[in-house]
Amino acid sequence: MFRDTVNRFVEEHCSREYIRDMDIKREYPYKAYQAMVEQGWFGLCVPEEHGGMGADVIYRAILQEGLARYAFDMGAVYGLTCWGIDTLVRFGTQAQREKYIPPALAGEIRFSISMTEPNAGSDLTRIALKAVDKGDHFLLNGQKVFATAAGSKNNVIVLAARTGPPDGARHSGLTMMLVPNDTPGIELRKMPVLSRRMSGTYECFYTDVKVPKENVIGEVGKGWKILGAFLVAERIGGGAMYVGNAQTAINDAVKYARERVQFDQPIGDFQSIKHALVDAATEIDAARLMTYQAAWMDSRGIPALKEASMAKLYASEAGMRATSVGMQVLGGYAQLPEYDMERYWRDAKQNMVSSGTSQIQRNIIAKAIGLG
Ligand SMILES: Cc1cc2nc3c(=O)[nH]c(=O)nc-3n(C[C@H](O)[C@H](O)[C@H](O)COP(=O)(O)OP(=O)(O)OC[C@H]3O[C@@H](n4cnc5c(N)ncnc54)[C@H](O)[C@@H]3O)c2cc1C
Repeated sequence: MFRDTVNRFVEEHCSREYIRDMDIKREYPYKAYQAMVEQGWFGLCVPEEHGGMGADVIYRAILQEGLARYAFDMGAVYGLTCWGIDTLVRFGTQAQREKYIPPALAGEIRFSISMTEPNAGSDLTRIALKAVDKGDHFLLNGQKVFATAAGSKNNVIVLAARTGPPDGARHSGLTMMLVPNDTPGIELRKMPVLSRRMSGTYECFYTDVKVPKENVIGEVGKGWKILGAFLVAERIGGGAMYVGNAQTAINDAVKYARERVQFDQPIGDFQSIKHALVDAATEIDAARLMTYQAAWMDSRGIPALKEASMAKLYASEAGMRATSVGMQVLGGYAQLPEYDMERYWRDAKQNMVSSGTSQIQRNIIAKAIGLG
């Protein structure tokens, strides 16, 4: 029943045509976001005492799989605000929860996450955005890159800044802060990236930006704990979105293969085309089951770091293979925006990089199976 509700919502508010248009114009999908707000989707997994519905991660996975049907980016727009709310539910002060969660559920503010810097990509221990203690506030100076949706309206950037040296442990000295994107001293520049053209990805420059101490999330210097807290949920959500979008790529390619006639027969009758699509469909089914397994384990409190990383790794790479098959099956037409395949393919490439690259996932899984 829930999946049916999601399906109806997606066809009405996140349709293929709407997404194509937003992607071509590189415009943030405010209308679809507002529809998600009105449907109550941002409160889906928020505990009831904070104004949500208290559903578990399986529901969120099904929703994200649906939202990403025509673009991973639509699911990402949703996931970013969810991540901000989850962070405040788990690590925020009561005052922060009261100040930020109700307006986020009402669509008056939204969240983005900004960790990456020019010298801190996979290795976030290198974060250098400097936050100097000035008594009642921190003063920020430095630069972030690749902050998705940071330039959208009423966005509160959740960022990691360096408040102290690594101090023995490589992961210490980082502090998480809430920084509204219209705070004086912030300059945002949209980056001309290949993927995520709706949400937009930004370079952020911080010059003497004042952040009141009440905006610090958790303890000063203990930001790593917060960064690491949602890795499982993030990878499950990622896996679900990759599967949702890749399934559409396969469905579109099958439809095209049945309709396109060359050498007096539908190209889908050629065995090489058939088998390529069968392999892609089989891999995406496997990726879906891996994702659901990790979601089921997590929802029951069973540690699922390995399973979530495996699902993220496999689903992103299977998504890349599936969209590449789609690009081949559609021939030259694949490269035109009106066929949508080039968008699926662009996002699939990015999915092997964000939320921990494929290599980083393999490193995590290696540790989990005993290869430290
Ligand atoms: C469109 C887009 C949106 C993004 N959105 C956000 C966002 O919202 N917020 C945010 O904070 N960041 C965001 N990012 C940044 C993204 O998370 C990083 O690009 C990613 O973590 C990789 O960092 P990097 O690009 O610096 O690559 P690097 O870390 O420099 O890696 C380069 C290559 O080296 C490999 N490598 C690195 N370390 C190892 C290792 N130990 N073992 C094996 N191989 C290794 C990597 O796998 C990769 O192939 C976004 C990026 C893009 C392109």
